[in-house]
Amino acid sequence: MDTPKTLKADVKYYSDEQVCIDAVAKLRWPNGPECPACGHKEHYYLKTQKRWKCKECYKQFTVKLGTVFEDSPISLTKWLPALWMLCNCRNGISSYELHRALGVSQKAAWFMLQRLRLALQDGSIVKMGGPGREIESDETFVGGKARNMHASRRAQFKTARESSITGDANLVNKTVVWGILDRESRKVRATVVPKVNREALQTVVLNQVVPGSKVYTDEARIYRSLSKDGYLHEFVNHLEKYVDGRVSTNGIENFWSLLKRGLNGTYVAVEPFHLFRYVDEQVFRYNNRKDADGKKLSDSDRFQLALSQIAGKRLTFAEVTGKVGEAAF
Ligand SMILES: [Zn+2]
Repeated sequence: MDTPKTLKADVKYYSDEQVCIDAVAKLRWPNGPECPACGHKEHYYLKTQKRWKCKECYKQFTVKLGTVFEDSPISLTKWLPALWMLCNCRNGISSYELHRALGVSQKAAWFMLQRLRLALQDGSIVKMGGPGREIESDETFVGGKARNMHASRRAQFKTARESSITGDANLVNKTVVWGILDRESRKVRATVVPKVNREALQTVVLNQVVPGSKVYTDEARIYRSLSKDGYLHEFVNHLEKYVDGRVSTNGIENFWSLLKRGLNGTYVAVEPFHLFRYVDEQVFRYNNRKDADGKKLSDSDRFQLALSQIAGKRLTFAEVTGKVGEAAF
């Protein structure tokens, strides 16, 4: 199958609902449709209703059942181009842009984007790093004035946050995002956390990074236990300098600037409650810029990958592109 290479080609290609159904079905059930109720593989296809009927339990099912498209009255001919835009527009896409591009209401567009972001979550359970591998860890504050805050001011913020000063007007409405970057794989993981404390460190770093890894951070106090936790911890004091030999957090900070560019430029306002979805979206685009060999992924590759996640089954790069023999990730 020749998959579309551009947004325009994508919209045209997926303008036929049957083509959409076939594309999602193929990624979801590589060996043919399976009944979601009983797992049986024999069925009738009810062509006018565009659903399958199980020969075993007689239940009917659509390709949307059990995916993020489930129960949606919106046609896949709108869902698939929406997904294309979400995973390929560098700074993300707003519900207003989607509303204009697809001719759905702005409210429907907002709802579609929220569901699609859910599908972009990186559910990987494999830890990052390894003996000798380099990991950067850093936190950032999103919301209010913190976006444009000077570095030294940010450092004060961290100190205030960590010493649990409450009631500070400057800290109201700020949300913390904590991220790690594996320098070898160039992959990022980022999580919205309630505050910068030991529990968050456990969630973001200790649970996700292999002990023995080198962990580079700034001078924040929260990281001082890392050596005891079995990591080779090195840090730069950001009040003095930003790079010390190989030790820096410049990689993860580059990711923060991408995240904030998207948040400031594309989205009118993001409620703290929804922030994690925007973070997942940016992580997805960032982590899927290149494959394991450093070769750039095309828009089409990224779209197919996202679609495979939505279909409820994560596929490797090789499976998605049919480029067997290339490194999977
Ligand atoms: Zn069945």
